[in-house]
Amino acid sequence: MKTLKNIGEKKINIALDGPAGSGKSTVARILAADYGILYLDTGAMYRAFALGLLRKNINPKDGEAAQSAAAGVPVRVKYVNGEQRTYLGDEDVSEEIRRNEVSRAASDVAVHRKVRERLVEMQREIAGRMSCVLDGRDVGSYVLPHADYKFYVTADSRVRAKRRYLELLARGQEADERKIYEQILSRDKQDKGREFAPLKKADDAIEIDTSDKSIEEVVREIERIVDEKL
Ligand code: C5P
Repeated sequence: MKTLKNIGEKKINIALDGPAGSGKSTVARILAADYGILYLDTGAMYRAFALGLLRKNINPKDGEAAQSAAAGVPVRVKYVNGEQRTYLGDEDVSEEIRRNEVSRAASDVAVHRKVRERLVEMQREIAGRMSCVLDGRDVGSYVLPHADYKFYVTADSRVRAKRRYLELLARGQEADERKIYEQILSRDKQDKGREFAPLKKADDAIEIDTSDKSIEEVVREIERIVDEKL
């Protein structure tokens, strides 16, 4: 068992951005556990918002409809034993938001400025109160431009598609690797190409390519950098 790393009284925010399947959520979860701080999964918020729209039969691409429905889509996050659970109102949707169709819908809603502003406000509020590792697309570049540590985690798109495919199989969902590869490419394109707060490496973020690295290697590399500055 690993010993908890000591960050003392310091409040720290670690931003971990990158495309789908780069391994950042697994890495973020381990980092948060090792430092004894919160793991804030910002993608889960976009997913929950998208699921809320799908349930209301609102097309997530329809910006006007999405934004006017926003108040009626009560996305919340709660921490249970240090683990993030994502809610729509009182319903825990943490599992349902992992469905493949929700991934696409999340990327579609994430384009709308007002939707982003609402979710970013929640993210800033949590990060302002607590030490946390945040994983997302725009954390280092937009949500927390002054984060103490910024990493941009990436990997070859074929490798990312394979990881997503294996993850869906492990969750007992049906999956077609070729389709997932195409979906990953189109989600990357949409996330990088959107006008407001796109997926991008912040100028001062450290880039880590995980294509040929194990999760343990990536964690070790990041922890070495964080520990040096602590
Ligand atoms: O990380 P995850 O795959 O759960 O994110 C789902 C979608 O949510 C992404 O494709 C992206 O469009 C959106 N997202 C975002 N900004 C974030 C986190 C996620 O736009 N900070």
